[in-house]
Amino acid sequence: MNKKKEYSLFDDVCSFVDEAAKYLNIHPGLLDQIKACNSIYKFNFPLRNEDGTYEVITGYRIQHSQHKLPAKGGIRYSSFVDEEEVKGLAALMTYKCALVNVPFGGAKGGVSIDPLKYNVNQLEKITRRYTAELIKKKFIGPAIDVPAPDYGTGAREMAWIVDTFEAFNPEVINAKGCVTGKPLSQHGIDGRTEATGQGVFFGIREAVGVEEDMDALGLKPGLKGKTVIVQGLGNVGYYSAKYISEAGAKVIGVAEWNGGIWDEKGIDIEALKKYQNENKGFKGYPKGEFVKNSMELLTYPCDILIPAALENQITLDNADKIQAKIIGEAANGPVTQEAEKVLLEKGVMIIPDMYLNAGGVTVSYFEWLKNLSRVSFGKLEKRYDMEKYRKLLGTIENATGEEFTDMEKDELIKGASERDLVLSGLEETMVTAYHDMNRVRKEKNIFSLRTAGFILALDRIAISYMDLGVFP
Ligand code: GLU
Repeated sequence: MNKKKEYSLFDDVCSFVDEAAKYLNIHPGLLDQIKACNSIYKFNFPLRNEDGTYEVITGYRIQHSQHKLPAKGGIRYSSFVDEEEVKGLAALMTYKCALVNVPFGGAKGGVSIDPLKYNVNQLEKITRRYTAELIKKKFIGPAIDVPAPDYGTGAREMAWIVDTFEAFNPEVINAKGCVTGKPLSQHGIDGRTEATGQGVFFGIREAVGVEEDMDALGLKPGLKGKTVIVQGLGNVGYYSAKYISEAGAKVIGVAEWNGGIWDEKGIDIEALKKYQNENKGFKGYPKGEFVKNSMELLTYPCDILIPAALENQITLDNADKIQAKIIGEAANGPVTQEAEKVLLEKGVMIIPDMYLNAGGVTVSYFEWLKNLSRVSFGKLEKRYDMEKYRKLLGTIENATGEEFTDMEKDELIKGASERDLVLSGLEETMVTAYHDMNRVRKEKNIFSLRTAGFILALDRIAISYMDLGVFP
């Protein structure tokens, strides 16, 4: 048995990069520069509570790469946030953006608080002060660094960020583009909330659609009837579970930090989510079996395991007990580098985080473009025939499918709703990136999709660095 090393997400990401670099011809000096975090900003600020007490709050914003600007990545509120975690998450953003061809550098931010312990007033104060600290040091701006939601934050926090940024930067013309994942009323984009989960669904659908890969795993191609266990029913886990079950897979387990539900008959995700919202957990849910130690659920039999919570969940402690044939990493870094070795040896297919959860940043890119161009993508109020539109996309992109007259095309595009455009852009991105990654995997004759993903991303980043040259 391997000895367990001290966990560092950043070190794990660097090891994945080193593994991929074996297949590329990158100068070692350049590789070191790519792997390093370019700027690290750690700061403390006071929070004055209503009862007159004070607290010192620690925040971070780390820009891993600036070879493409702005740098991009979410802001996490969690008591686990520390420099090592934010560095690792920022690094992952660099490779994620490169893999799905979103032209951003990688960054991440965090505040080390448990958001559940603070009321809305306190959270607003913390968010606005955090933003002010970033503004002071020029760590935020539509052309510099653009945050977004992550674990523990959402559209509400993004609205406070944009409002604070605009208050301090009245002269910045496209200030709305300083943050993504905003509410629709604050120039957000329709479809961003569910984008990560939607992307997870597209990614898994593509993976299980490749017949020869499923043959190798002893599974039938397609999602229909596949059994699924999801860890985390937050934004990402909920939408992943919802879309995958709507497509015919059967979610038989959902694990949360305070207990899980196991039901071989299949779980009604909407009903479970409603119950969780009302009861702050699954305890007492009338269907299925309550599993107190939810970590155990990860090792129950299923076809697809979707960790959608935090990093460091599948480790040397439980890797050999995992029974799933496919792990879809909806969270960032849920499988440690050591655990991955064990799983790959067992023949488990791991769809890596850098690819699978890239739907969030992809739709953030659409939102940022919308904010910079100051246009609305299509008519929000109008719906149109999605089937027809897909055929139209096929006609334009592949010169195949049904022919449309120019008038019909105009008509369809005029009627397109923003949500449908976002969805088709996201689908196209996820489908293309999956097959690019899988092609590299086969060309290089390797089993790991992660290594293939890193090879693709690293190659693109290296080219970008080389074209930039070295200053001065
Ligand atoms: N926090 C998300 C991630 O880890 C989204 C980042 C973004 O939209 O910039 O990918």
